[in-house]
Parts: sequence; structure tokens; C-alpha cells
Amino acid sequence: MNKQRVISILSKISEIKKNTGLRVIDTHVHPLDVMGVVHYTDIKNEYAKMDYLIPSILEKFNYGETAKIGSRAFFKFFPKQVNNIIKTTYESIVERRILDEMDIALIDTAVMLPVAPWLPSKIVAEKFSSTRLITLGSIDIHSIKLEEIDNFLKNLVEKYKIKGIKLHPNLQNFRPQPSHNPKDLGEKLHCLYKFAEKEHLYILFHGGISFYTDFTDPKYQGNISRSRVNAVLKNFCDNNGKSELFKNYNIPIVIAHLGHYGIVNPDYKLINTIAKKFNNVYFDTAGVSPSFIKNVLNIIPSQKIIFGSDALYNRMSYNLAFLYSAVEDVKNGENKEDIISNILQRNFLSITSV
Ligand SMILES: [Zn+2]
Repeated sequence: MNKQRVISILSKISEIKKNTGLRVIDTHVHPLDVMGVVHYTDIKNEYAKMDYLIPSILEKFNYGETAKIGSRAFFKFFPKQVNNIIKTTYESIVERRILDEMDIALIDTAVMLPVAPWLPSKIVAEKFSSTRLITLGSIDIHSIKLEEIDNFLKNLVEKYKIKGIKLHPNLQNFRPQPSHNPKDLGEKLHCLYKFAEKEHLYILFHGGISFYTDFTDPKYQGNISRSRVNAVLKNFCDNNGKSELFKNYNIPIVIAHLGHYGIVNPDYKLINTIAKKFNNVYFDTAGVSPSFIKNVLNIIPSQKIIFGSDALYNRMSYNLAFLYSAVEDVKNGENKEDIISNILQRNFLSITSV
């Protein structure tokens, strides 16, 4: 997608906002690096305005198959270049930088995502405190003791008003279902899910595989181990619709990237099974191609989809434009404006008390 097309879609969305009072919520933003490339103590508080309507390399390909294969190969053969892209994106960040990109992309509210220990919630909540920004909680399930989990999370709720918890089974190296882990890890996850249930927090999981460069900042000591595949969709729910995570806990769950980050052939059947069987499960659109969003909307209702961009790794405006162009092509019998308002605002409001 090119800049001209994005600008024309933004003007249509602006019209809808004016006519209907729609407020756009981007529920998936990483204000600082979570891949371990730029350590959070090294971020400079500098800001030079830039053009947020210029696509990244991946956005030029609409996150399509070429981009997926491309990014996999890119990570494999040019890890240093990937590191450099992440470094230049994240080495100096101030709150104004985030708010400026939101303004350009017509985003009213954005959800800031930490991933501990790579990026703790405290750092995010204290650096980004605008009323337009919401912070989620994050917890390093390996280093925390079972008996400390409740107090740690309670503190995040009280101090930073977190509305949910972000979990990354690949970066944080655990399986989403408690019983698929070693016993102590499973017990900690159970405790965390129970806390979310009690405090009415939603949980946002990374969905799909992950690509990493192996050049993590040496400040992340002890070689924190990561997985590439823990977050694949079948680790959340098997083909027969069996899932202790979705069934046993009364919490809203959002699976990011429509459950398929970095995967070329999506498992539409499993998406459909999950959407049909579990009322409490949603999918976000972060970094997903227009054609994949369209295909998913043709099989599951828009009440199950929530908008996210995966900025600042991606551009907010491009992700919004991808969603809009997908909705233009959808034929699922739903009214287009309803689809837009469900995905951009209503569904998120229904799972939080924002
Ligand atoms: Zn993300």
C-alpha cells in the first residue's frame, strides 16, 4: 500500500468519526523495544519529528506472503540490519513521539504494552502517562515466586491502573495452558489467570511464531531463554476445541496477530472453532495483511476482532488503512460501519471498563 492510498482512507475514517462520534483505539502498541535490542535504561529523551505516513519495508508488501517469507529470511540472513532497524526506531523516544503518530493516524487512545523482563510495566507506565494512553501489566513468570504474584499484580492495578496483562509465550518462554508447563510454572500461570479473573483484567497473548536476532543487549543478563513457537494457535486450543485456558478461566482473552504472526498458511478452521466455542476469546489485527483480515471476517463475526497496530515496529496509519481496506472487501452480511465501530472501539470497551 502506498502513502496516497493511506491518506485517502484516513480521510474516509475521519468522516466516519465526525458523523458517528467513533473513537479509535489502538490496542497494541510497543512504545519501547521488547525484543531485547535496546535496553530500557539506554533510551534517550530526544525527539525529531518524522513522517509517519511513510511505509516500512514490510508495509510496502502489505504484510503479505512475500513480507512474511521476506522477514523470516531477513532475520536469518541480515540479523545485524534487523537490529539496526530496531535500534533506530527505539533508541530515542518521548511521549510526544507516540502522541504525534496517534494524531496523524486518527488514534484517540492507545494501549501501551510492556513485556517483562525485556521491558517492565513500571518503565512504560511512568514514561507514558498521558490520559490518552493505557498501560497493561507484565510479569516475568520465571523470576517471580508463586506467593509474590498477587501482590505484584495488585500493585500494578493500584499504581498504574492497568486494564489487562500482556503475555508473550515466545519471548517469555512458557506455554499458554498451565498444564503444558513444568508444574511450578503451571501453578504460577494458574495464579496469574485467577488474579485476572478476580480483578476483571483481560489478557493479551502474542499469537504465532517469533523471529529473533541473537544480538540482545548484554544488560539482559543470564541469557534469558526464548521460544520461537510456544504461541502458535494450537497451543491455546486443540483442533477439537479443547482448551483449559479458554474454558476454566472467566477472563476476556485477546490473541494478537489473528493468532498467526509469521505463519504463511493460516489455520482458518481453528480460528472458526475457537470463535464459535468461546465467547471470551478475541483476536487482534496487529501487523496482519488486509487479505488475511478479510478472510477471517468472512468466517467469524466482527464482534470477535479488535484493532491493534504493533507500532512502533509498524506504522499505526498503515495498520488502520489495512483494516479499512479489508472491511471494504468483506462480504459477511454485516453493515460496514458496524464492523468498523466494533473493531475500532466497541469490542475493546466491552472487555475493559475504559
Ligand atoms: Zn506486539
